[in-house]
Amino acid sequence: MGGEEDLPLHGSRGAMRELGAAELQQAIRDEQLVLHYQPQVEMATGLVAGVEALVRWQHPILGLIYPNHFISLAEREGLMGALTRWVIGGVVRQEQLWRDAGMLVSISANISADNITSLTLPEQIAELLADNKLDPTRLTLEVTETALMGELVTSLDILTRLRLKGMGLSIDDFGTGYSSLSQLHRIPFTELKIDLSFVSNMTVDAEARAIVKTCILLGHELNMKVVAEGVEDQRTWDLLLGLGCDVAQGYFMARPMPADEMLEWMRNR
Ligand code: C2E
Ligand code: CA
Ligand code: CA
Repeated sequence: MGGEEDLPLHGSRGAMRELGAAELQQAIRDEQLVLHYQPQVEMATGLVAGVEALVRWQHPILGLIYPNHFISLAEREGLMGALTRWVIGGVVRQEQLWRDAGMLVSISANISADNITSLTLPEQIAELLADNKLDPTRLTLEVTETALMGELVTSLDILTRLRLKGMGLSIDDFGTGYSSLSQLHRIPFTELKIDLSFVSNMTVDAEARAIVKTCILLGHELNMKVVAEGVEDQRTWDLLLGLGCDVAQGYFMARPMPADEMLEWMRNR
């Protein structure tokens, strides 16, 4: 039970041919999408701080396709609204199933640039949460730093509304975009996620290590929880712990896995 198997190149599987917009639209409608979950572990205690939901496409012919092969298609074709609604709906239903099984877990979901300019998004998410009686503070929305570079005024408004509704907000892939500190400060983020390119190199690359260290200091100064993604070995874990990082996520602890395996994994801990 190790979740997803080892891939030669992360996210390289699937999509041997062009995937089309109509096909993706149908996939969203026909429930061909599936969510896998990866645990986030609190470094100080070893407890599960939450899980991140990661979408996959169970294609009837091509098999399991990773998001790197269809997220940009969804963005290009205006399908991000529908995809995100499906993802949040799925997450909320899953949380209910886990809760029924006696497992209380916080969930993070990814949203994209398109979503944070959609004025209807905060209400839609709030409704999905209310329908399933999910406490909004148990949902964190992850937005990449690059997604923030678009229409900042609108996204600031929408992100603030989501935050006011109680949801957590995480700045994903931190260190790869160009957000200025003053911009960052204006958006009510609760969490900073250090990009895996820095984390996975920090044992061998002094500069990557310096960047990780600086991100942790910055996050803490701005009162954010700091998450390191891409933790692949014990040495990285040890370094991060020494630097005071709050939460770790990565293959060292567990790969993303289907919901039932996730439940087993949590029970076995
Ligand atoms: P992300 O949000 O930065 O997610 C982390 C990615 O790193 C995931 O790839 C995860 O499987 C992978 N990963 C986790 N631990 C490790 C590790 O230790 N080493 C390495 N090398 N990789 C690790 P995945 O699932 O293929 O997702 C790729 C990207 O697709 C995500 O990056 C995210 O930007 C996007 N994505 C995934 N699900 C969704 C979704 O539901 N909605 C949106 N809008 N985007 C999504
Ligand atoms: Ca993410
Ligand atoms: Ca990331």
